[in-house]
Amino acid sequence: MRQIERDARLVWEHAFEPDPTDGEKFYLTVAYPYPSGAMHVGHGRTYIAPDVIARFWRMRGKTVLYPMAFHVTGAPVIGISKRIARGDPQAVSLYRDLYKVPEDVLARFVDPLAIVRHFSDEYQRVMSECGISIDWRRRFTTVDPQYSKFIEWQWKHLREGDHVIKGAHPVRYCPQCDNPVGDHDLLEGDKAEIIRFTLVMFRWNDAFIPTATLRPETIYGVTNLWVNPAVTYVRALVDGEPWIITREAAEKLSFQDHTVEISGEVAGAALIDQTVSHPLCGDVPILPAGFVDTDMASGIVMSVPAHAPFDYIALRDLQQKGQYTDITPVPLISVPGYGSLPARDAVERAGITGQDDPRMEALTQEVYGTEFAQGRLFEKFGGRPVREARDMIAALMMDSYGSVPMYEFDTRSVVCRCGSKVVVKILHDQWFLQYSDPAWKAEVISHLNRMDLIPPEVRAEFERTVSWLKDWACTRRVGLGTRLPWDPAWLIEPLSDSTVYMAYYTIAHHLRSMQADQLTPEVFDFIFLGRDSPGLPHRERLEMMRREFLFWYPYDFRFSAKDLISNHLTFQLFHHVAIFPEPCLPKGMVVFGMGLLNGAKMSSSKGNVFLLEDAVMEFGADTVRMFLVGSAEPWQDFDWRNDLVTSTRKQIDRFMNTVVECMAAREDPGDLDSWLRSRLQGHISRTTEALERFQTRQALQEAFFGIESDLKWYRRRLPEGSSGSVYLHELCSAWVRLLAPVIPFTGEYLWKALGGEGLVSFAPWPKTDKTNENRSIEVAEELLARIVEDIESILKIIQLEPAAITIYTAPEWKRTIFQAVASAEEKTGVIKEIMKDEAMRKRGKEVTDTVRQCITQVHRLPPQVVSGLLQEMPDEKAVFSAASQFLAREFSVPVTVRDAGGSSHAKAATALPFKPAIVIE
Ligand SMILES: [Zn+2]
Repeated sequence: MRQIERDARLVWEHAFEPDPTDGEKFYLTVAYPYPSGAMHVGHGRTYIAPDVIARFWRMRGKTVLYPMAFHVTGAPVIGISKRIARGDPQAVSLYRDLYKVPEDVLARFVDPLAIVRHFSDEYQRVMSECGISIDWRRRFTTVDPQYSKFIEWQWKHLREGDHVIKGAHPVRYCPQCDNPVGDHDLLEGDKAEIIRFTLVMFRWNDAFIPTATLRPETIYGVTNLWVNPAVTYVRALVDGEPWIITREAAEKLSFQDHTVEISGEVAGAALIDQTVSHPLCGDVPILPAGFVDTDMASGIVMSVPAHAPFDYIALRDLQQKGQYTDITPVPLISVPGYGSLPARDAVERAGITGQDDPRMEALTQEVYGTEFAQGRLFEKFGGRPVREARDMIAALMMDSYGSVPMYEFDTRSVVCRCGSKVVVKILHDQWFLQYSDPAWKAEVISHLNRMDLIPPEVRAEFERTVSWLKDWACTRRVGLGTRLPWDPAWLIEPLSDSTVYMAYYTIAHHLRSMQADQLTPEVFDFIFLGRDSPGLPHRERLEMMRREFLFWYPYDFRFSAKDLISNHLTFQLFHHVAIFPEPCLPKGMVVFGMGLLNGAKMSSSKGNVFLLEDAVMEFGADTVRMFLVGSAEPWQDFDWRNDLVTSTRKQIDRFMNTVVECMAAREDPGDLDSWLRSRLQGHISRTTEALERFQTRQALQEAFFGIESDLKWYRRRLPEGSSGSVYLHELCSAWVRLLAPVIPFTGEYLWKALGGEGLVSFAPWPKTDKTNENRSIEVAEELLARIVEDIESILKIIQLEPAAITIYTAPEWKRTIFQAVASAEEKTGVIKEIMKDEAMRKRGKEVTDTVRQCITQVHRLPPQVVSGLLQEMPDEKAVFSAASQFLAREFSVPVTVRDAGGSSHAKAATALPFKPAIVIE
């Protein structure tokens, strides 16, 4: 196995480096990796499944480009190198023990670039070990000086198109890294969204007690505040005013444009039973509640028991203990389907008894959602629909009653890769990509409609992402990457500098020989947009690059995991429509499922990974490929299990042995070979269709197991002592080629052994030939296989050593009925038709029974068998007679064939077409 892999890698070294041709091209790309750790088997599938597609189209005669580069922009490696430098045991163990980085290399990881250099080499090495057919001439990293020039060009266009704006926005922010953070920078909480609360300012003596709410309109129904008596709150001067809040809130507010100065502490217990007031609801008391989360907004909440299920239950619990019985819920919103107290109705309908009931969260969402969609404030509170009143009352509070917004995550625990807690920060002078721009969104949607999306279900998810996408903080202070051309104090963040690099691949290898400072925006305008300007350097070279770009672009398909729909995959569409003309816009995307390891999500930080290289060493590259491709379609989640991988290994061994044995066959082809040849046509066309639809699993099933089971039957059917005909050589040639995209190492080896010309990687994909199709012979073998199976199962049941077997084939009149039933669209009308025939009528009940049995039979048979039978009913007697020697050998007794029509045996009457009666004595 090792030797086969080594040999193939040697001949492939420069095999997949395509230049433009006169023919058709197929350009596929996969999201490039961030090389900060070793590849695991989950990464393996991300690159192997597209490789199967690349290899398939290459064999179909297209010029295929599959390039790869490395994304090293951003702060993650800086964080990693800092952690390694300070000897963080978790980081050191991850790199030394899991990723197996040698000590001397690890010592160099105090330089972030050393990390990415080491792992990009590792990625290339392991990808090559896996047989991924990449054009490595085009490899680059996102910190190469030429690439930075390309990014500067891209951003010049984005700015000219008014897609980049400056402003103050709340962003996810790591105080330790002093940087905004994106999904990829997060250890925990990578789906966290920022939500905007309104702080409602209650007056308490000389101070304010702010409560955070998403529903400011409910102020009219506030009956009390909730404070956690077990918590120590702080008194803080916020913008010069004394506020009572949690310590966490004080910290958070300091990142949100407030000056915050803590001046003392206030025990939560001391606040209980105090009276606070707000102009919109008057005086209300403070009540104790253990459920108040100190890490949520201000850490104090207002209570609206008429409309909030949590508040309703908490108040009820206190009142059942005889406390605060003078408080009654104050309703303020009328909602269809609910009485005056929607919170009470919801809680009672669901039969909830306590605040810890797990259904409370869903119930709350239901009440909030219905009130927002259909609720209307009472006349005395203005009578407006909730959806209008909410913003108006928030504005009123901001203008007149001292309210300010407070931002918070919708998810607990958002942690940066550096280990620090992430906060919401209002950034000023920050640059944003204006993804909220409706005109830009419209262009993306209109292009999306023309794209080929696989699987089709993801279209809705793309559309949703485009519609809710907000402005994106696209610059950072710290990290690796390209500086913003017009404001070089800022760096372009990682998701924003990796959106149109698929265009860069087309010329990456040519750019390497050019000086970065020659790569002005005018140069890229010429190459990518065909815009000429005077004084361009190396004009001939640029023209060649322009031609190469036009040959490859747009890309045909981009492959990526489904968790990138909400960012990268959608961002790249925004950038493409902003910069490139319509003929250069992306054509299609294939979205992948996720990888599991023994049923659990793969995660490097949690140690639940199996390294790709270890898998290749243990099982062999082709086994890894075949398992990853065969266990699920690309868009489905797959689960890596070592025991299943072991059986894949055995399947490949079996395949090799079978091909080698077939090569020894020397006889002349006969009927059985015609059958095999005819079957092969179906396998070829179904494998081809599956791969054209990216159904790599389906293709493997068809090409591997479909042909294998044919061969098994073929050998069983051969006369004793026969090893088969020379047709098997031809079959194996096709078989090896059909499997070559999935198991290319084995493919090259066998192709050479079969005497194939050149590399199997470039061998012509097998084609079907109509003249090789033989329906009647396929139907006859199907019939025979079924009778063998039926006899076997009868023998198993009766547990009898048979002395003789008789097969009764159905008489002609039953065949007529079968054909009538099989061809009828509406089966119920068949009897009437048949009974028009005089001879049939005479048979009476026998006919109605047969019709019923034939209907069942037609439903049970595979549709392709039924359609084959409709074309031509086999002469069953002739089929069984011709195979009588085979049958006798199979069951070690003589097998007789009779026409059921002329027999008086009771069993003979049950014979049906394609289901003869069997009598065993
Ligand atoms: Zn950080």
